[in-house]
Amino acid sequence: MKIGIVGCAGRMGRMLMNAVLEAPGCQLAGGTDRPGTPTAGQDLGALLGRAALGLTVGQDAKALFAASDAIIDFTAPAATVAHAALAAELGKILVVGTTGLTKDDEAVLAQAAARTTIVYAPNFSVGVNLLMALTERAAAILGDDYDIEIVEMHHRRKVDAPSGTALGLGRSAAKGRGVALDQVWCKSRDGHTGARPKGEIGFATLRGGDVVGDHTVMFAAEEERVELTHKAASRAVFAKGAVRAARWAGSAKPGLYSMRDVLGL
Ligand code: NAD
Repeated sequence: MKIGIVGCAGRMGRMLMNAVLEAPGCQLAGGTDRPGTPTAGQDLGALLGRAALGLTVGQDAKALFAASDAIIDFTAPAATVAHAALAAELGKILVVGTTGLTKDDEAVLAQAAARTTIVYAPNFSVGVNLLMALTERAAAILGDDYDIEIVEMHHRRKVDAPSGTALGLGRSAAKGRGVALDQVWCKSRDGHTGARPKGEIGFATLRGGDVVGDHTVMFAAEEERVELTHKAASRAVFAKGAVRAARWAGSAKPGLYSMRDVLGL
């Protein structure tokens, strides 16, 4: 499978190119980055600290789509929306890891998916997606005698809280209980909060150092406590998951899929 990387000069773009080069049966079709990037024209191998690959950082997304079977996009919402239109026009597989998409942006992805195969996930780690499936199941089995609290820790540079993944875990827990997360969530606590309401799903956020991403979902009852934990050690895990999604999409019908579809969860 020939895989192209848009946003190839970014932190995830570089991880993604390494993951493609290391995946059996995959070939790097090329990479593009935003207009005006100082990396324009650089050899992709040199960008990765590897031997030259004879492919350079391009700016013509359409040419890259035409030369690829699948494109992986971890860029920014405006770029992703434009890439979705190209994927639909040229009938190419698109794997989207960009976060911060609005409802309107997501609607564009859904429209494009009528014509081609798109996999879209805010977290491509296999372990986190398994954790989401386990959380939904545990919440359904344990019921609301078990108080659900979600604790996450990330590096000091992270700007949003709770993390998108923590909120995703909250949605999984709420789904397991048959409720809407925004009806039961408590995203932070401070001061005289009163007793914990039954059925609440609570969040706690820690920030510090270089932590890539730790998440724990706790189910606390009076007699026992169940804890499900995932710890990411490297951002490479997201890149590997995205390449796995691209390979899976090679045999999927047009449509909009999530990482849970890819993993059969
Ligand atoms: P980054 O800023 O290092 O990289 C983004 C790259 O996209 C930059 O090189 C930028 O120049 C490029 N870009 C912007 N507009 C472009 C365009 N029109 N065409 C081509 N390239 C363009 O950021 P990052 O840390 O690599 O993260 C990128 C995105 O991936 C963010 O939205 C982040 O939240 C998300 N992310 C998702 C996952 C996941 O598992 N889904 C994991 C990590 C990061």
